[in-house]
Amino acid sequence: MTGKELKSYCRRCGGSRHHETLSEHAFPWSESDAPIEGNDTWSVIQCAGCRTVSFCHTHWFSEDYEATEDGGYRVIEHRDLYPPAPPRRMPEWGADLFHALTMQQQWVRGLHSDIYAALGMKAYSLAAMGIRTLVDFVVTSKAGDYGTFSDKLARLRQRGLTEAQEKITDAAFDAGSAAAHRGHIPTMKEAYLMLDIAEKLFEQFYIEPSLEGQRKKDADRLRANTPPRVKPPKKE
Ligand SMILES: [Zn+2]
Repeated sequence: MTGKELKSYCRRCGGSRHHETLSEHAFPWSESDAPIEGNDTWSVIQCAGCRTVSFCHTHWFSEDYEATEDGGYRVIEHRDLYPPAPPRRMPEWGADLFHALTMQQQWVRGLHSDIYAALGMKAYSLAAMGIRTLVDFVVTSKAGDYGTFSDKLARLRQRGLTEAQEKITDAAFDAGSAAAHRGHIPTMKEAYLMLDIAEKLFEQFYIEPSLEGQRKKDADRLRANTPPRVKPPKKE
C-alpha cells in the first residue's frame, strides 16, 4: 500500500525516523503438503525528514518464532534495508584520515567503509576479518614488519601503547584470526567491540598525530602573522 507511514532506520539521519511508503508489493506463500507459510514484502520507502529513499525487504516465516513473556510465541518479522545500513555511523574523521595516510595507504579507507557495509548486511565474519586487517595495518605500519604479532605489540609499547591496550588489541586480532582460520562466527556485539578497538588504535596512532601536526603548522602560521613584541626603551 502506497502512502503508508512507518518508522524505519534512515542511514542519512542516523536513527529511526518516520518514512512514507512510495511503493509496496507483498508475496505471501504457503506449502500445500506442510502447515508452513510466510510472506515477503518489498517496498520503496522515503524518510519524512531528509527525503532519503531506501529499498526494504520485510519477511517472516511461520517456523521462525520466539517465546513471549506470557508463555506463548510470536513469529519474528525481519526487515532488511538496501543499501545496507549499519546501526552506527562511521567516525567523523573524514579528511583527517585521508591526510594521515600516505598515497600507498589510502586502501585502508576503502576497507574501513567496506567493514561498515559488511556490518550493515550482518556479515559479521567478513567484518571481523576486515577489522583484523585494520588492526594488523596499524600495528605493523607503526612497529615495523618483522617478528610475530606479539613482538610487534611489544615494540608498540615503546610508542605509547599501554599494557591494557596491548591485551585488548591482541584480543581483537585473535578474534579476527578465529573468524578467518578457525570457523568462528562473531556476534554483532563482538564485531562492534572489535571495531571499537581498531578505531581507537587509528585515533591514537594516525588521527591524533596528524591533527597535532596540523595544529603545529597553524600555530607557526599564527606566529608568523603576529607582530613581534616591542621592547620597552631602556631607562637613561
Ligand atoms: Zn532521513
